[in-house]
Amino acid sequence: MGRVYNFSAGPAVLPEEVLKEAQADMLDYKGCGMSVNEMSHRSKMFDDIIKTAEKDFRELVGVPDNYKVLFLQGGGNMQFAQIPMNLMNKHHKADYIVTGQWARKAYEEAKIYGDAVKIASSEDKTFSYIPDCSDLPIDEDADYVYICENNTIYGTEYFQLPNTKGKLLVADVSSNFLSRPIDVEKYGLFFGGVQKNVGPAGMVITVIRDDLITDDVYPGTPTMLKYKTQADKDSLYNTPNCWCIYICGLVFKWLKNLGGLEEMNRRNEKKAKLLYDYLDQSKLFHGTVRKQDRSLMNVPFVTGDKDLDAKFVAESKAAGLENLKGHRTVGGMRASIYNAMPYEGVAKLVEFMEDFEKKNLK
Ligand SMILES: *Cc1c(COP(=O)(O)O)cnc(C)c1O
Repeated sequence: MGRVYNFSAGPAVLPEEVLKEAQADMLDYKGCGMSVNEMSHRSKMFDDIIKTAEKDFRELVGVPDNYKVLFLQGGGNMQFAQIPMNLMNKHHKADYIVTGQWARKAYEEAKIYGDAVKIASSEDKTFSYIPDCSDLPIDEDADYVYICENNTIYGTEYFQLPNTKGKLLVADVSSNFLSRPIDVEKYGLFFGGVQKNVGPAGMVITVIRDDLITDDVYPGTPTMLKYKTQADKDSLYNTPNCWCIYICGLVFKWLKNLGGLEEMNRRNEKKAKLLYDYLDQSKLFHGTVRKQDRSLMNVPFVTGDKDLDAKFVAESKAAGLENLKGHRTVGGMRASIYNAMPYEGVAKLVEFMEDFEKKNLK
C-alpha cells in the first residue's frame, strides 16, 4: 500500500522529503555510525543538531535576541500548568479568552494556581466564532491575557490578535504553528505542541521573552517546570526529546527551502480556499464556522445527517483519504490541512466530495 492523504488533526502528516531524509539517516547519521536515536544528547553530533535546529527556527520565525526558544516535553497540556506557575506571579491573576476545548482546559488548569478570569467566550454558539476582542474587560491587575490562536477542534482561528490593553499576551499556537508569519514581539510567550503542524509527538516549543524567565514562581513548582531551569541550560538540563528535535530541524530546513513562512502561508491560503469555496456552494456539505474566523488549518464540515456523515467517512477512507472523522465531541467531519498536506491532497478531497454529493443528494 502506498501513502494515503492523511487529514489527521495530530499527530499529523509530515513532509515526505523529511521522512525520506530521516530514513536515509536512520542507520548511520552523517557517517557517525549510529542513528540519532542512539547518540548521547551531550555529544558533538547532537549539539550540532539542536543548535542548528534553534538557529533555523529563529531565522524562519524571526525571533529577536531577547526571546528564548525552549524545546520542552510534557505536551501542550503541561504548558497549561507551566504558564500560570511561572507567569501568574505578580498579581496571581490572569485573563482567559475561551474559544474551544484547549483554551478551556488551559483556563481550568490555571485556576489551580491563581485567579483565572474568563473574560470572553464563544461557548454560546458551540465555539463557531472568535469573539470581538477589540475592547474586552481586561483586568487592571492581570499578569497576562491568554488565547488559543487556532482552535483545532472547532476550526476557528484568530486573524487579528486581541487588544490586551498593554497586558502580556500568551498564546497556544499548537495547530497553526509555522503556518504563517508571526510578529514575535506582540507576545510575552507563545508555545506550540509540534505534533500538529511541525514534527512528531513528544515536544513543545515555547518562545518566551527574557524578562519573564525568573525564579519568582508558584511555591512548590518542580525544578523541571521552571522555565529558568531549561532556559539556563539551553533546553539540555536533562535528556531532551532528541529524535523530535532532529525531525523538527529537518522540517525547519524544508520550510526555509520552500521560501519560508510567507510562502507557506500563500500555499495554505490556496489550499484552504479550494476547500472553503467548494463548501460554500455545496448543497450537501456545509462548514460550521463563521466565515471570517475560518481556520486555514482545520476545516470542520457536516451534511446534517449523522448516517450520511458516517458513510462519507467510510467511503473516503476506502478512497485513500484518511482521518476525516470529526472530533468525538463535535461529530461530522474535519479535514486538517496542515503545512505538509500537498495541494493535490485537498484537490483529491474536493473531487471526492463532489462525486459523493452527486450520488447522495436527494
Ligand atoms: C492538541 C492540542 C493541545 C494538546 O496537546 P498535547 O500535546 O496533547 O498535550 C493543546 N492545544 C492545542 C491548540 C492543540 O491542538
